[in-house]
Amino acid sequence: MTSRRVADVAIVGAGMVGAALALDLARRGFEVVLVESRAPAPWRVEDEVDLRVVALAASSIALLRRLDVWTTIASARASAYRRMYVWDALAPGSLAFDAADESASALGYIVENRLIQSVLWQAVERHGGIELRCPARVVASEVDDNGAARTLAFEDGAQLRARLVVAADGADSALRGLLGIETRDRDYAQRGIVAHVAHARAHEATAWQRFLPDATLAFLPLADGRSSIVWSVANAEAERLLALEDEAFRVELGAAFDFRLGAVTATTQRAAFPLRLRLAERYIGPRFALVGDAAHVVHPLAGQGVNLGFRDTVELANALDEARERKADFAAEQILRRYERRRRSDNAMSAHAFDAIQRGFASDNPALAGLRGAGLALVDRVAPLKRFFAHRAAG
Ligand SMILES: Cc1cc2nc3c(=O)[nH]c(=O)nc-3n(C[C@H](O)[C@H](O)[C@H](O)COP(=O)(O)OP(=O)(O)OC[C@H]3O[C@@H](n4cnc5c(N)ncnc54)[C@H](O)[C@@H]3O)c2cc1C
Repeated sequence: MTSRRVADVAIVGAGMVGAALALDLARRGFEVVLVESRAPAPWRVEDEVDLRVVALAASSIALLRRLDVWTTIASARASAYRRMYVWDALAPGSLAFDAADESASALGYIVENRLIQSVLWQAVERHGGIELRCPARVVASEVDDNGAARTLAFEDGAQLRARLVVAADGADSALRGLLGIETRDRDYAQRGIVAHVAHARAHEATAWQRFLPDATLAFLPLADGRSSIVWSVANAEAERLLALEDEAFRVELGAAFDFRLGAVTATTQRAAFPLRLRLAERYIGPRFALVGDAAHVVHPLAGQGVNLGFRDTVELANALDEARERKADFAAEQILRRYERRRRSDNAMSAHAFDAIQRGFASDNPALAGLRGAGLALVDRVAPLKRFFAHRAAG
């Protein structure tokens, strides 16, 4: 079935990033179609805290506030972190950030992915300017002969035309492949083990991160007093840790964390995610753009993946909006180029910085360990440097 109608923007993927972009554009008056292969599982307060959580930076919270969904998310279940503390297992020296130094009430919030996605999904459903196509899967895409629109062909034979198509379908983006965009990848040969754990001492609303020679370990504070951990270790070690009985796992986790919060007294089930660096070689092309994990996948050690994705959506929405105000073709190459210029360099810089940190901290060479400790202490003591890192993390 070929539709004669041409939507302004078709977004493929209604994860946190795609759904936020759809809502933002629709609220600015664009006619949006949002395509998703499966509806998100509903979030319910009585359910156990979902294992996938993200640390949202100030810039992401500002976006969710502007989209009128933050109050719903925050009142459902969100945990403010007011401090961040980073230290190295092999060298003295640490780095601490405090919201008070920034005259802020929090550095950010820990929130379940599923909660954010489901609140955005409900807002999308309520918005009259967004057509949801779910379940739907794109199998082909090409630009019209006159170059004025792009067609998406679906598995069931349906078609859709839009002036701009946005791929927001995540790290393994099928649409990115259909658009012929290559990625540069590095497999860290690591997995990020996640679980929620209880501990003897209070987490003090602090996001803790410890670098070990062969691992990074983060404890992110949850609202119920527990912490959500991300323990990034080599694949074989991840297999071993996942296979441990709960008690043995708790003991090893507590030791790896240097018992900073005392003994680990309880744990949920564990899950693990493969870790890799993946950067799309281009973000744009004729009548398309990539956003979020479809464009960049970064190591989770800095907790920035979705924060970078939300920044993509803001930049793209601003670029399209300004072009339309000027009565220009909002999906013209120079408009999309502006989006790419701004976001690709920022994302690549962040990705390579996290990559360098990951490699620098992965070594147990004593000289390097000394440098790391000195580096942490230096950043901690030199106010402008520290402010620079704090502002970058906040977006
Ligand atoms: C262990 C771990 C910890 C992390 N911690 C943090 C953190 O603290 N802070 C942070 O900012 N980030 C963090 N991240 C990264 C963050 O989870 C991702 O950056 C984020 O989920 C990406 O969102 P997205 O919407 O771009 O993609 P996704 O969440 O992957 O969403 C893609 C959507 O597209 C849909 N889809 C897929 N294929 C198709 C198709 N063919 N057709 C239609 N729809 C499709 C999917 O169903 C899904 O809904 C972490 C990641 C890991 C692995």
